[in-house]
Amino acid sequence: MRMVELPLTGGCNCGAVRYEVSEPPAIASYCHCKRCQRRSGAAASPSAHPAPGTFRIVQGTEHLKHWKPEDGGEKWFCADCGSSIFGRNPGHADSIGIRMGTFDTDPGIRPSVRAFVADAAPWEAVPDDGLPRHRGSRHATP
Ligand SMILES: [Zn+2]
Ligand SMILES: [Zn+2]
Repeated sequence: MRMVELPLTGGCNCGAVRYEVSEPPAIASYCHCKRCQRRSGAAASPSAHPAPGTFRIVQGTEHLKHWKPEDGGEKWFCADCGSSIFGRNPGHADSIGIRMGTFDTDPGIRPSVRAFVADAAPWEAVPDDGLPRHRGSRHATP
């Protein structure tokens, strides 16, 4: 773990939404699912998973909107600028995933696992970085 200044802070492109994380997140992961591809515009989306109760929105709650698919977690974004900020799925052990690109500074943690590689984008190879790969959810058996 790298030394980081706490709380970690972050927010959206327009500055309306700001958050804080009071402890270093314990785990981070890449998601290659099609929803994350559409949401982020990228081949995979890295999220950091904070310990319960350590993540809070400190500004701009009223600018936040979310989309919740019937069979998936809530995807929260800034309604003013469209920045994707975090996901929430109460059914998962790591129920919050902070989109790592929204951190102001280095959050210390590095993604250590890849999920939904069965849905990986055909136009970019999954990096050969030795990280464990799950065909579907990383909460299920690989
Ligand atoms: Zn914004
Ligand atoms: Zn995903």
